[in-house]
Amino acid sequence: MISVAEAIQIVRQQTRPLPAERVKLETALNRVLAEDVVADSDLPPFDRSQMDGYAVRAEDTAAAPVRLRIAGESAAGRGWHHELKEGEAVRIMTGAPVPAGADSVQQVELAHELKDGTVVELLESVDAGRSIVKRASEIKAGETVLQGGVVINAAMMAVLAAFGYAEVAVGQRPRVGVLATGTELVAVHEKPGQDQIRDSNNYSIAAYAQLTGAAIESLPLARDETSVLKKQIATAAKQCNVIVTSGGVSMGVYDVTKAALKELDAEIFFERIALRPGKPTVFARLPNGTLVFGLPGNPVSVAVTFNLFARTALLALQGVTEPAPKYETALLARSVKGNVERESYLPAQLTTNDDGELIAFPLKWGGSSDFVAFALTTALVVVPAGTRTVEPNSLVRVLRLP
Ligand code: AMP
Ligand code: MG
Repeated sequence: MISVAEAIQIVRQQTRPLPAERVKLETALNRVLAEDVVADSDLPPFDRSQMDGYAVRAEDTAAAPVRLRIAGESAAGRGWHHELKEGEAVRIMTGAPVPAGADSVQQVELAHELKDGTVVELLESVDAGRSIVKRASEIKAGETVLQGGVVINAAMMAVLAAFGYAEVAVGQRPRVGVLATGTELVAVHEKPGQDQIRDSNNYSIAAYAQLTGAAIESLPLARDETSVLKKQIATAAKQCNVIVTSGGVSMGVYDVTKAALKELDAEIFFERIALRPGKPTVFARLPNGTLVFGLPGNPVSVAVTFNLFARTALLALQGVTEPAPKYETALLARSVKGNVERESYLPAQLTTNDDGELIAFPLKWGGSSDFVAFALTTALVVVPAGTRTVEPNSLVRVLRLP
């Protein structure tokens, strides 16, 4: 058995980013940035007024109230491109360029115009620099604004637009084949007959995979027969970068996933992890390069193992710089039990208390098959291997679920 951390390390070592592709900015949200974003202009591109008001020389306002001659008007998109002289003011709007010669802007609320708008009276003096955002104070042309390897969020969309990235390089979406195995499985639209259950794993796996940005290939349900499963995996591998199976990796007679992978000459990187739930998780690569995650069948094990291992791989394939799970620290609200040999990942809900501390409430659940209780889970509480009990108010590592 290897540790969870070792298994994540192996996933990272065996996963290289897919080639990047260029997409229209409109479709880049939530994709992984595959290039550094460089400013193609200063921001602001000129000294910019932060206020509606009057651009002036601060020294001309020292003896306020003062009257200044209005020499012109500078609006956003239509500046006043002359030199402002002693005793003059230029009517200016938010976002407009501050004319040469002016060093400050007095806000409109502290001024009123006289004589048909040819003169302005400023009621208070203004300090030099006031209400002006200097050219290039936000960023200089040529500077790197965003580094590749991050997931593009809404705020980054504005940055990409501002610097002219009508197209942007992003990591290719991995094609993920989702393959539930189990002779007992029927499809969601069917009524389970005797000894049957509906497949739910394909739906949670597809959902978690989509949340990473992957494209889903739904594959027909597989029965527990090595020869058939083998063919299904081989066919799927032709069109998938990754195949995620569920079920059939334990020690039972009908647990045939590993046998199928071995007959296909897959290289198996790990097949037993010191993890609860999720011990028999398999990670392998087929001769054509397709990666395979063989997850256990129990729905909660699926959620835990997918988010530890398959998610890491799918993010890495898209070029995410830090694809591994990010743990946080929380205070435990109720005691939980650990396991002698294995690291436990227990369902919990995260909240904050009035002191601003993160609190993990472990949920009561019936074990790795209890996916109904699991539906309310927002995070997993990690209990190290060899820990019998963790007492309330202990600090624990937690992993938020996406
Ligand atoms: P296995 O790992 O194949 O032994 O399956 C463990 C448990 O998970 C069994 O109770 C299965 O019936 C259940 N299970 C397996 N696959 C699925 C699936 N696709 N959807 C829901 N439950 C499943
Ligand atoms: Mg099974």
